[in-house]
Amino acid sequence: MIDIKDLKKSFGSNHVLNGVNLSVNRGDIVAIIGSSGSGKSTLVRCIAGLEKPDTGQILLNGEEYLDDGKGVGKIGMVFQNFNLFPHYTARENITKPLTIVKKMEASAADEIAEKLLRKVKLENAANQYPATLSGGQKQRLAIARSLAMEPEIIVFDEPTSSLDPSLAHEVFQTIKELAAEGQTMLIVTHQINAIKNFATRVVFLNDGIIEVDGTCGEVFENPTNENLKDFLQMVE
Ligand code: ADP
Ligand code: MG
Repeated sequence: MIDIKDLKKSFGSNHVLNGVNLSVNRGDIVAIIGSSGSGKSTLVRCIAGLEKPDTGQILLNGEEYLDDGKGVGKIGMVFQNFNLFPHYTARENITKPLTIVKKMEASAADEIAEKLLRKVKLENAANQYPATLSGGQKQRLAIARSLAMEPEIIVFDEPTSSLDPSLAHEVFQTIKELAAEGQTMLIVTHQINAIKNFATRVVFLNDGIIEVDGTCGEVFENPTNENLKDFLQMVE
């Protein structure tokens, strides 16, 4: 579904991505792990079109999608800090992008919002503003908002790192339910236990290069790469 070929990105003299190659198939749950500063956010931001790579290709179903607007709505993005619209209610956070970006009728957008709020167990918070929601509720709302666009893939950048463990757990429950429905996802996280036995593949990024790309067993049980071993010792 997504094909990334020899992606490079520098900020001035800081070479952040140094030739990343990655393919994501439909239904894959790909976890991206690596030390702080290794380029994880830059990589996923390039995929979401929020950052422009210097060279290399990113294809969606075999086509370039970033420059010509073909990708609008096809890549969902969920951030550590939620990025909700603070002056809209939970329901409006879902309906506004639909009526404004997708030009959908208000009644149709409301119907989708109802369904998605129920899916992330926020049906009782529809009229609340983000400031009144817990961190876990905010993140589940962000997930619902992203689902409303029917993205081909949802990219999560450390979705639970600002949440305490019980809220992080509830957000990962939601993420796992989506995975069970076949939603393709890319998840950047330090929460190794949450992705163990769940991610279909784990990618280890180090200094802007994918050094390891394997199953949970290959990455967590029998790592051979020395940088990966050091990293796992630090986070586990
Ligand atoms: P990670 O998510 O793995 O922690 P990042 O992709 O956020 O890593 O950052 C990789 C490097 O790129 C860091 O050195 C960071 O300072 C730098 N960087 C990221 N975004 C920018 C930016 N917009 N401008 C300048 N430097 C950036
Ligand atoms: Mg990051």
